[in-house]
Amino acid sequence: MHDSPHIPAANEREVAARLCHHGRADAPASVRLRTWSASERRFRALRAWAVCWGLAVPAVFLPVLHFVLVPSLLVAGPIAGLLRLREEQTVLGASGACPACGESQSFPVTGAWRESVRLRCEKCGRAIELRAPAPVSAG
Ligand SMILES: [Zn+2]
Repeated sequence: MHDSPHIPAANEREVAARLCHHGRADAPASVRLRTWSASERRFRALRAWAVCWGLAVPAVFLPVLHFVLVPSLLVAGPIAGLLRLREEQTVLGASGACPACGESQSFPVTGAWRESVRLRCEKCGRAIELRAPAPVSAG
């Protein structure tokens, strides 16, 4: 057990999820989400875009590699921006009991929301799956 007391901010919320392991009953879990407002999403999008294009500038001076890096980063900029713009919720973490051994634990899940995340139990080492319904859009 290494749960630290966490005070959720206004833009954070917990949603119910399930932990699944083949042949066992699903165990309840909770996923902590950070919801981004429209202006936050725009900021994150511009920042991701700027980082890509910012990296493209020094990449110009890398011999040979610049043939690949510069066009890749220039293309990656708007793509990374678009992904950020669409990312309404970011997973901050998940917790629940392992469906196989019953050990309660926190899982280091981060990134964009996905309906299914593969995890490994810290206690028994079994592969378990975190399943959660798509969250309702905050608008
Ligand atoms: Zn386990």
